[in-house]
Amino acid sequence: MSSHASVPNHRTDYDVIIIGAGIIGVAIACYLQQSGQSVALIDKKGIGLETSKGNAGAFAFSDIMPLASPGIILKAPKWLFDPLGPLTIPPRYLPKILPWLIRFGWASRSSIFRKNSAVQAQLMKLAAQEAKGLLAARGALSMLRSDGALELYESEREFKAALPGWKLREEQGIEFRHVRGAELAELQPGLSPSFVCATFTPKWQTVSDPYLVVKHLGESVLDNGGQLIVAGVRKLQPAGEGAEVILDDGRRLRSRNAIVASGAWSKTFAADLGDPVPLETERGYNTTLPVSAFDLKRQLIFGGHGFVMTPLSTGIRVGGAVELGGLDLPPNFRRSDAMLQKAAKFLPGLKTEGGTQWMGYRPSLPDSLPVIGPSTASRQIIYAFGHGHLGLTQSAATGRLVTDLVLKRTPAMPVEPFSASRF
Ligand SMILES: Cc1cc2nc3c(=O)[nH]c(=O)nc-3n(C[C@H](O)[C@H](O)[C@H](O)COP(=O)(O)OP(=O)(O)OC[C@H]3O[C@@H](n4cnc5c(N)ncnc54)[C@H](O)[C@@H]3O)c2cc1C
Repeated sequence: MSSHASVPNHRTDYDVIIIGAGIIGVAIACYLQQSGQSVALIDKKGIGLETSKGNAGAFAFSDIMPLASPGIILKAPKWLFDPLGPLTIPPRYLPKILPWLIRFGWASRSSIFRKNSAVQAQLMKLAAQEAKGLLAARGALSMLRSDGALELYESEREFKAALPGWKLREEQGIEFRHVRGAELAELQPGLSPSFVCATFTPKWQTVSDPYLVVKHLGESVLDNGGQLIVAGVRKLQPAGEGAEVILDDGRRLRSRNAIVASGAWSKTFAADLGDPVPLETERGYNTTLPVSAFDLKRQLIFGGHGFVMTPLSTGIRVGGAVELGGLDLPPNFRRSDAMLQKAAKFLPGLKTEGGTQWMGYRPSLPDSLPVIGPSTASRQIIYAFGHGHLGLTQSAATGRLVTDLVLKRTPAMPVEPFSASRF
């Protein structure tokens, strides 16, 4: 059958089809286009309308420690006790997520944690190198804020517990300083006195609004000849020297390469291609308040409570938390309320009225590393998903690595640690 005839107004001779127009798919499209490849983005909703829309907007380059860590194993039981706390598992989802949790526990052992931290640090170095270039190439540098972040501690005990992590970052050359008293008050006026000290990471960056960034980048791809097809993809399979995509409405498209960048929804594609990847979602929640809600100087990280506050051009965003609840359960926005109440306690002047609530699906592998690399079924079909808490941060690095693979260049860093077959 001629796929061309069945898809009016759509070209079918793309070099690369990318399934998913979140920040990962869009960044890949930018890099491929800059290398002369013709690209089509396919998304069931449009550009950046899922997880990449409402995240906390951080380029968290110093966040090199995988979530799967000895520290989290100590904190998790206490957190799980509070149904609206930083980490929850809805009871009916527990049997489904148990195998993932077992793998998470395994990856949290010190030896694996240290190995994965080194890999994450290398990916973050690449991310930091590439992000600015990507934004500059697409006229989006003005969307970058470079005022660092403050991680806050409520007790000396909490601060001391964080020190080994900062030592690890020091070994990786990450800049930070611990601050107290007048310096802390100057970095963020209006904080509750319950915070005894903080760590300031000056190189941490945020964006004006993550949705505006992904939308801007996606539109720049279209302005430069890329195509957006708003449709669900039912199946992806190897075909001859390339790949074939079957849309939900039965249309078929062909390309030389195909990329799976479908975030938390990538698992079925990978399974069909011979890679049973243990992808789950860590659902996250937030509330975006009006800009006037507080004079927030920079991103604040309340690590002990699992949420952050970000100053965006579009509002003050309060959110985070992890809910291991899969893709189908309805959202529980009491979690957004709970974080907002805590934020009001931590910043007594915060105006909590007029907010918009949101939930997103972080695509997460149990070892906290993404999957980037070829599928078992075909080297022409490449995975780029599972960036968990760090998809925005690692988007440009992923775009670079995937483009290296498509063009058969030596990748900017080894991609073996990100292989789908590591599980
Ligand atoms: C509360 C919260 C805060 C966060 N904060 C940060 C942060 O500060 N910094 C950071 O770096 N990261 C952060 N993250 C993580 C980040 O948002 C994600 O890692 C990132 O958005 C994942 O991007 P993605 O493109 O892989 O997925 P998505 O943005 O979810 O995109 C996947 C796309 O695939 C499409 N799709 C799926 N299945 C199909 C199909 N069958 N057919 C067609 N299209 C399909 C979807 O419609 C979607 O648009 C946060 C996440 C949450 C939830």
